[in-house]
Amino acid sequence: MDNTTKIVDRFGREHKYLRISLTERCNLRCFYCMPEEGVKLREKSCFMTSEEVIELAEKFVALGVTKIRLTGGEPLIKKDIGNILSQLSKLPVELGITTNGVLVDKYIDTFKKAGIKSVNVSLDSLKEDRFNAISRRNYFNRIKSNIDLLIENDFNVKVNVVLIKDVNDDEITDFIDWSIIKPIEVRFIEFMPFDGNKWNWDKLVSNKKILETVHSHYGEDYVEKIKDKKNDTTRSYRIKKAKGSFGIISSMTNPFCDTCNRIRLTADGKIRNCLFSNSEVDLLGALRRKQNVEQLILQSIYNKEKQRGGINNFETSDFVLKDDRSMVTIGG
Ligand code: SF4
Repeated sequence: MDNTTKIVDRFGREHKYLRISLTERCNLRCFYCMPEEGVKLREKSCFMTSEEVIELAEKFVALGVTKIRLTGGEPLIKKDIGNILSQLSKLPVELGITTNGVLVDKYIDTFKKAGIKSVNVSLDSLKEDRFNAISRRNYFNRIKSNIDLLIENDFNVKVNVVLIKDVNDDEITDFIDWSIIKPIEVRFIEFMPFDGNKWNWDKLVSNKKILETVHSHYGEDYVEKIKDKKNDTTRSYRIKKAKGSFGIISSMTNPFCDTCNRIRLTADGKIRNCLFSNSEVDLLGALRRKQNVEQLILQSIYNKEKQRGGINNFETSDFVLKDDRSMVTIGG
């Protein structure tokens, strides 16, 4: 494979952004992501070892990947996460991590050594009781103080909020008020269907509904549109004179697939060419059998659907989820 090879799909989209899920385990039990009892634990041999994570990452980078984000489950519960971060930091990539924030205080220096600048923290409520009810654990204050710790240490902090009707959609302006006084980017994520999360269209708080709420509360003149970058998944805004900003990730009502450059590698070493596509290819098995992994990567992405894994009936009554993965086993 010569070094000019790029990872391009049949619609001409070049893929340079790899999201690696390091584990299916998590120290939270958010009801829209993970079954209460957790996911069925499998043999250790089913999952990528740290060496295999690095080896596969190197192959993706050789094919043009320039950005890697680590996800999970919760990546910080992965035993040798420090070693993985330091190894990946040697690659010519922008390195980022998405975490639930519980263990962040233990890794501030590790993040700095690995050259991580951007940390995404999931926090679905600013109300302690409600957060503990959603996550089924009592880590609210620890996560809040860890977000402040990241800000104090000059990390770019994005706070991911999965909005669900009648669960936390009454906190939209509370989160935005927070972005007015703190240099954070709050990102409202439209609720998406994955195995076991009892999703339906009526529970979704749409991009349109969020903007209506914002404009009626702050007044349209006080809401500035921030220019989005080419591959951005977020449509970003700022309240005039705010320290931070907010954005909307609208995969369901206003998808952004035209400029998609994302590839997912699951903790068990499967490449997923789209968040919603369950046509996975087993790279880990091929790697262990010393087969041509690069060819499998190129073919998997070439076969990618134009939009949302080819699903276009989410809002209709005959939509049936044909995916056997819960969000925790994909990594978002
Ligand atoms: S739904 Fe699939 S194609 Fe669309 S942006 Fe997400 S990963 Fe890309």
